[in-house]
Amino acid sequence: MTNTLFDALMAPHKGEARDFLILPDGSSLSYDDIHRLSGRLANLLTAQGVKPGDRVAVQVQKSPEALALYLATIRAGAVFLPLNTAYTPAEIAYFVGDAEPALVVCDPARAARRDDFLPDGGKLMTLDADGKGDLIEAAICHAEVQNPVPRRGDDLAAILYTSGTTGRSKGAMLSHDNLLSNARVLADAWRFTSEDVLLHALPIFHTHGLFVASNVLMLAGGAMIWLPKFDAAQVIELLPRATSMMGVPTFYTRLLDRPDFTGELVQKMRLFTSGSAPLLAETHRAFEDRTGHRILERYGMTETNMNTSNPYEGERRAGTVGFPLPGVALRITGEDGSLLPRGEIGQIEVRGDNVFQGYWRMPDKTAEDLAPDGWFRTGDLGMIDPDGYVVIVGRGKDLIISGGFNIYPKEVELLIDEMPGVLESAVIGVPHPDFGEGVVAVIARAEGAKPDPDAIIADLSDRLARFKQPKKVMIIDELPRNTMGKVQKAALRAEYAELFSGRDQTR
Ligand code: AMP
Repeated sequence: MTNTLFDALMAPHKGEARDFLILPDGSSLSYDDIHRLSGRLANLLTAQGVKPGDRVAVQVQKSPEALALYLATIRAGAVFLPLNTAYTPAEIAYFVGDAEPALVVCDPARAARRDDFLPDGGKLMTLDADGKGDLIEAAICHAEVQNPVPRRGDDLAAILYTSGTTGRSKGAMLSHDNLLSNARVLADAWRFTSEDVLLHALPIFHTHGLFVASNVLMLAGGAMIWLPKFDAAQVIELLPRATSMMGVPTFYTRLLDRPDFTGELVQKMRLFTSGSAPLLAETHRAFEDRTGHRILERYGMTETNMNTSNPYEGERRAGTVGFPLPGVALRITGEDGSLLPRGEIGQIEVRGDNVFQGYWRMPDKTAEDLAPDGWFRTGDLGMIDPDGYVVIVGRGKDLIISGGFNIYPKEVELLIDEMPGVLESAVIGVPHPDFGEGVVAVIARAEGAKPDPDAIIADLSDRLARFKQPKKVMIIDELPRNTMGKVQKAALRAEYAELFSGRDQTR
């Protein structure tokens, strides 16, 4: 038996001397370098007692070593559990308690606070932004030869936590087949080959940077310019060396903000893709005007990998996410679950090999969203236009997407509601020129109280990742409600729509 994912992504590259990861300083790592490092790390994981099916939780900065650790985890037959680098120790404690990893890998600075997230002990190793730490020191003592642990297509390869609608994050369980089938479809649909050099500026704790970008490039045998984060000046400097870039809408608006981002820079490029949040039709057009390139927008989510894509050849239609990918079935349903005709707005449901196995240890939540016949209710609202293009019109779940990251308001509201002087709160997303949406907390004060917005923001700073923290706090007497008693978030969004319309509001 084989190891489904590793055998497809990295095993074929054994011994290959050509570039795999090109670093900002111009140095590079070959496919063989990463293949060998992943062998050492896989042997280390096994020596540390990580068994097939065990979780390896990883909260580290992006580095070549971090990618090798992902491959090593798969190679050792374990389940990779990446965590957003912005999560606080209090948030990590929840994930560790829920997933019960056999090993946690984090930054050395974070390891100093281990009692805050590993109160009952547990194995911890370190890896820093420069690829150093006791994980790598220990790996050097292990052989680079390792027989990948056999794993079937339906065995788990990864668990990625999504923000929970009820305030609790859910672990989306992804199998080897889920990831491999989607990588194959995308490599083919977007024509990736070993000639490609992808500019990779996305984080690798998220499905976009880890699976959509890295898996696809490994499958195709291409190279990646491996940047620690998105920095517009650096991207402008390196784009002439790339053939493709995958981005979130914020990448494109930030590039367009710079006069030195010109059409000449991107003449060698063959593809720009966008996803994780809606790309404004206006951005699509401005990008085409500046560069002559039409951004290819696609739609996916942690639970499903990628579902739809605009065509590589053919019209890439602004404001749409294109057609269902090969092997993905997509339908629009009404509130009663009935199938809606083209042109009508309803819930987007998808089915296919790309759809996850369910939520980790949450059978009730899984049953609510994933039907026994395989249809997954995405929570996104959309319609299919007369030409078959899928249009996303909103989100059923009130999700906020800021800078490409998801924030479920409930998680923030629950913390604010406990604060002194607060009667209740509604957390909303309103248009923000840089982040797409900015988080705003609207608070109804308790009678006679005068809650202080700055104190509320300060109180949240240690408890919530920065991207979830409200950028503005508005104090009012009473939240608007409809006749059913539901808070009218749409009214609040309209009222505060202009809050960030100035350019100086980012923090
Ligand atoms: P995540 O699980 O973090 O990848 O977030 C998935 C959610 O992002 C989806 O359910 C959508 O609400 C949103 N999303 C992803 N891609 C797009 C897109 N191209 N346009 C609009 N929303 C998107």
